Amino acid sequence: MQQADSVTTNALPTTPWHALSTQDVYARLATTANGLTPEEVTARQQQYGRNLLPSKPPPRLWLVILHQFTNSLIYILLVAGIVALAIGDFKDAAFIFGVVILNAVIGTYQEWRAEQNAYALQSLLEIRSRVRRNGEVLSVSAEDLVPGDIVLLESGDKVAADLRLTQVANLGVDEALLTGESMPITKSVAPLAETTPVSDRLNMVFAGSLVVTGRGTGVVAETATRTEVGRIAQSLIEVASAKPPLLVRMERFSHQVGLIILGCSTLLGAVSIWQGLPVREVFLVMVGLAVAAIPEGLPIALTVALSIATARMAQRRVIARRLVAVESLGSCTVIASDKTGTLTLNEQTAQTLLLPDGMRFEASGQGYRGEGQVSPAGGGTLETNQRDRLLRLGRAAILCNEGALTRTADGWRHSGDAMDVALLALGHKLGLSPEAERQAHPLLVEVPFESERRYAAVAYRAGDQPRVAVKGAVEAVAGFCRTMDTARGDQPLDLDHVARQADALAAEGYRVLAIADGVVETTPGTPADLETISGLTLIGLVGFIDPLRPEVKDAVAQARRAGVKVLMITGDHPLTALAIARDLDLAQTTAETITGKELAAIPREQLQDWLRDHPRVRVFARVTPDQKLAIVDALVALGEVVAVTGDGVNDAPALNRANIGVAMGSGTDVAKEAAQIIVTDDNFASIVAGIEEGRYAYANIRKVTWFLISTGTASLILIGGTVALALPMPLSAVQWLWLNLVTNGIQDVALAFEGGEAGAMRQPPRNPNEGIFDRRMITRVLLGGVTMAILCFGLWVYLMQVGVEVTAARNILLAFFVLIQFFYVLTCRSETESAFSISWRRNPVLIGGALVALAIHILSMNWSVTQSVLRVEPLSMDKWLGLGAMATIVFIVMETYKRWQRLAQERVRTQEAAITT
Ligand code: ADP
Ligand code: MG
Repeated sequence: MQQADSVTTNALPTTPWHALSTQDVYARLATTANGLTPEEVTARQQQYGRNLLPSKPPPRLWLVILHQFTNSLIYILLVAGIVALAIGDFKDAAFIFGVVILNAVIGTYQEWRAEQNAYALQSLLEIRSRVRRNGEVLSVSAEDLVPGDIVLLESGDKVAADLRLTQVANLGVDEALLTGESMPITKSVAPLAETTPVSDRLNMVFAGSLVVTGRGTGVVAETATRTEVGRIAQSLIEVASAKPPLLVRMERFSHQVGLIILGCSTLLGAVSIWQGLPVREVFLVMVGLAVAAIPEGLPIALTVALSIATARMAQRRVIARRLVAVESLGSCTVIASDKTGTLTLNEQTAQTLLLPDGMRFEASGQGYRGEGQVSPAGGGTLETNQRDRLLRLGRAAILCNEGALTRTADGWRHSGDAMDVALLALGHKLGLSPEAERQAHPLLVEVPFESERRYAAVAYRAGDQPRVAVKGAVEAVAGFCRTMDTARGDQPLDLDHVARQADALAAEGYRVLAIADGVVETTPGTPADLETISGLTLIGLVGFIDPLRPEVKDAVAQARRAGVKVLMITGDHPLTALAIARDLDLAQTTAETITGKELAAIPREQLQDWLRDHPRVRVFARVTPDQKLAIVDALVALGEVVAVTGDGVNDAPALNRANIGVAMGSGTDVAKEAAQIIVTDDNFASIVAGIEEGRYAYANIRKVTWFLISTGTASLILIGGTVALALPMPLSAVQWLWLNLVTNGIQDVALAFEGGEAGAMRQPPRNPNEGIFDRRMITRVLLGGVTMAILCFGLWVYLMQVGVEVTAARNILLAFFVLIQFFYVLTCRSETESAFSISWRRNPVLIGGALVALAIHILSMNWSVTQSVLRVEPLSMDKWLGLGAMATIVFIVMETYKRWQRLAQERVRTQEAAITT
């Protein structure tokens, strides 16, 4: 969508859709309640273009480039370059500016790629809309909507175009994007005065709003930039690109180190001048020191590590909407998971029917297909009286139903809620035709299913009498009933008896719905009337099976090994939930479950203590979204890093408040917007995969830090030592630059590509309060840094002692430093594993990068241009061999230390094992 375009369209007078009757709207848009034909849709797509807003563009290239120049190192370098120019040192000046540019180019490239990568992920998250076209309900990409399309809305949807409503059932819409007011507005359909302001146009819904309750149908009136939100040209899809705290901390860290180094080098400079060194020399030493010790590569390498992690997660069907999720996933300690659809497939089959007098029937046939028979559980055929009672149940289940299941030439087609579709399949198996039933019994009012209500109800016309059908959780449906259906006709409802029946089914692992119907005296006029109806008859219970996702059991075990606690939070019956938890090895006894009712008895402010005192409780059943939020809050307050899954509108607050909100790919747009990560296949196992990738990413960040800070430390000690002994500077400023920004720069970024270590998922989660610089890190950095410093310093002192000329000595020391870093980066591939046991395949980039860095240096020693800038020259083979042998010492020291640590850990483990057995 071009800028010019939107300007001209904005200027066009707009149609006052809200003032027209629905008939006029249909007429003006040349459409009907059945929707457009495919040909018409294509024609209009040509005419109106895609329903897209000018989305927020990815950051501009020049901004990314500019960002490369906003760090303290670059300032120092620029000053150094200018000073070099001023004193006529053109070669050095050219080199310094060259390095600044190279650094900016590499930095820009990395950052740009990371941004593009994040942007590409965003665009994967397309919004879909349900439309009626040619009389059929389809799910299409919101970008394909055209004026005249008939859109069906339900709670959780994000509105994708401006719609004139034609039908509403308790439709509540959050229009905060347009009006700033987040209280949901209840919509209606009657025409309004033409002067009605946008915020009061109750018969319209606008692109970018969220449907919070109910259902509705509307005609697309405006799309793309012609929508209300399009006119203010905001982006419909918000690109969340907040910097993860880790990155912010690292940037701050390298900035602080920069300042300290600046201070140190000024001090050293002062000392050197006092020792009588020429000012010019001293200045270059200070620059060299700054370059050597400032970990400028850190933020870039971190950005790269995080960006690689998001790409790897996406391959495992986990989309990180915010980079911070990568960091928090790595330290996740609790996953609070939904049951239906996440642990199970949500492929419901209505399998068992139980009538209130205990007659039990089984339906044959699996999945969303209407083929199969219903027969008595003990065998035999249905008696007429039984058939009639089952037909009554089937009819109520078909009418109180928002799904669709039709037989077409190429198999069965279904849409809507899994439970609803399963009930339609049951209807077919009973010999009923859902279409015929729906035609014969027009709906009057409906209360659609919402998770926290746990039932759905409709009033419909049967002959000339209004009738009501209700389906839902047993407790909820029983509230509407006074009687129950038995072989001897209606009997007073025996709630205890029915509840026992439901418990028995639930204990077998069935998800249970109760179904009721009855005639009513007065036609309910509004959904609220329907909600308060009583005097219905409970017809029977239906038991649904919903197979477990095959990968989940392993994933639960993997999470356990990784010290991540798995909780199930469900709206379902406690016994159904427990049966599934047992199959997954998540919980075994009712002592490990708690229901919403029991939770309600615990005062909110004590929930935290309660959870701490009952660590064995793993299953939370019949929980309301509100309670889910309370549980998440309490866990977070206990210091857990909580990942919580959700798909509905009411899950949004919990997703928001958890450390990691996980929305399901099939969930509502509202949930996705509140979440930090989206699991595209809805699978619990993918969350565990995300945790694994998060841990790898964190481990890589540690490795890069380790590598960079220890080489910085080594340089610092080396320079400090030479100043203390009043020796000549070991490397020239230009050489320090070369070492840190060219050879080292290749290696640190390459290290960020390291693959995951097998052990990562066999350790408990890291302590989220512990920074990167924990004791282990400090020990490693000091050991590596000091060893390297001793080797380099030793070499330098030796070279000076035997009287090697300074330039030749620097040439040798530089080559030695490059070699040391070559070996050191190999050791940094793992904090614990032996470098010999790691396959090069785990990180070919690093092996390539390390070799390239070495090769570049050897080339520069042989090319006249670099020879004169860097003041280097080729070395003889025996010098190389000698330096190489000496450089391996740091490798041997680090590997010995790792091995010693592994053995020590082994000892602790065997001791622990001895104590526990
Ligand atoms: P879950 O945590 O398993 O996803 P839900 O919140 O979806 O649970 O459902 C809670 C309860 O609501 C179910 O146990 C069932 O009794 C009832 N229920 C679920 N789906 C429907 C539906 N389509 N119509 C009526 N009742 C339903
Ligand atoms: Mg559900």
